[in-house]
Amino acid sequence: MPELPDVEVFARDFASRGLNRKIESVDLRDPDRLRGSAPQDLRAALNGYAFETVKRHGKVLFVKVSCGWWLVMHFGMTGFTAFYDDPADEPGHARLVVGFADGGFFAFDNQRKLGWLELTDDVRAYLRSQGIGPDALELDEAAFREVISGTRGSVKPALMDQEKIAGIGNVYSDEILFQAGIAPEHKGNQLDGQQLARLFEATRNVLRQAVECRADPARMPDDWLTPRREDGDDTCPRCGRPLETCKVGGRTAHFCSHCQA
Ligand SMILES: [Zn+2]
Repeated sequence: MPELPDVEVFARDFASRGLNRKIESVDLRDPDRLRGSAPQDLRAALNGYAFETVKRHGKVLFVKVSCGWWLVMHFGMTGFTAFYDDPADEPGHARLVVGFADGGFFAFDNQRKLGWLELTDDVRAYLRSQGIGPDALELDEAAFREVISGTRGSVKPALMDQEKIAGIGNVYSDEILFQAGIAPEHKGNQLDGQQLARLFEATRNVLRQAVECRADPARMPDDWLTPRREDGDDTCPRCGRPLETCKVGGRTAHFCSHCQA
């Protein structure tokens, strides 16, 4: 599922390839992927205009259109964006295809149909209406500590609570907790000052480094959990012991009980 680093990569790709190109066609292949507006409203908001600014917040991508509206993209479990020039390169589950006057295309792909598109004229009001809290990379240490230490439940679901900290999902919460040496079931309000400091630092470092790796596990450091899991290797990259799993907040956490306490 696309989390903050994945969506940041989509945002950077969009900024380098999608802006200031006149839109000539709007092909909404799956009208059910559009919420809150009719397909003709989407066409009217895009056709003849250009995308002019990109903003990511949490796991959500916002692209401003020169008519003044923002196109909002939620990726669900499997979504991604693609730019290409040859229609033969269109991804397999494109739900929206935008054609540019210069001959190129943009596609919003969403195989499992859990993502969606919307239009908004006010990003901040939109985030409030969706209950999406501050972005994980914008939250300062004091605010981060307040969120975590105010959690009576386990720390993993607290990291994944989009109302409190937006952008972290199942994969990166496991990685952050592994790097911080904290067990996923540890209660938020029982972490001491050093653990809170380590957790904040790990959150920053993991998210920033993952973006630098283009959210590609093959490029991530060898002592990270994510590339191990991607390779199907269930041993700890630090101590070599078998990794364990547990259910926390309805999700499966992967962790090392020797390296995380
Ligand atoms: Zn270990």
